[in-house]
Amino acid sequence: MAHNLIFLGPPGAGKGTLAVRAKDLLAVPHISTGNIFREAIAEKSPLGLKVKAIIDAGKLVDDETTVALVRERFTRPDIRSGYILDGFPRTIAQAEALASFSKVDAAVNFDIEDAAVLERLGGRRVCRKCGFNWHRKFNPPINEKVCDKCGGEVYTRDDDKAEAIQKRLAVYREQTAPLTGWYREKGLLVNIDANGNVEEILTLFKKALNL
Ligand code: AMP
Repeated sequence: MAHNLIFLGPPGAGKGTLAVRAKDLLAVPHISTGNIFREAIAEKSPLGLKVKAIIDAGKLVDDETTVALVRERFTRPDIRSGYILDGFPRTIAQAEALASFSKVDAAVNFDIEDAAVLERLGGRRVCRKCGFNWHRKFNPPINEKVCDKCGGEVYTRDDDKAEAIQKRLAVYREQTAPLTGWYREKGLLVNIDANGNVEEILTLFKKALNL
């Protein structure tokens, strides 16, 4: 059975971390629009140059650009086995666009308290090379600037700085949170408690999807 899944929830809820585990379990591609944008920024491609200031400020990239990116990604054949969309859709307009070219099986909503989100985002450190998410307090690399997995440089995302975090949470509440109601009405919403660690969340995820 194909698993066409969306991961919903505020920034810092652990969507990306769980997606890395769940994609292996389900043998489906993990598609993170945030990662695609960050790669484009690192490459200084036209897309990267266009979105850098928007992302650094914690705002959303416009729907047209984002939907075009996902549509393009969906032309690749690996999508036939299913997908985990992490960080897309983030607006009702994006959800409507997605519905026009793919049938979603479930929207998994990561339910988490604000205090936990602030702690996770404030301490998050990312490897520039392999993309692994470290945490200053909960899961630090041995040397704070070097990735234990690949030797890449470990850094703080510009949008994980205090001001941008506040902006991202406000944007989430205004524009993305309404998606939970949208998917609930369609009978596709699956809520999981995301306050625990990745192993606990993975267990709840499997249970919720009967895996
Ligand atoms: P993320 O890694 O998912 O937190 O995404 C990082 C940033 O990329 C977001 O704060 C937005 O600026 C941008 N972004 C990612 N996905 C989307 C999307 N679906 N719509 C608009 N902007 C997005």
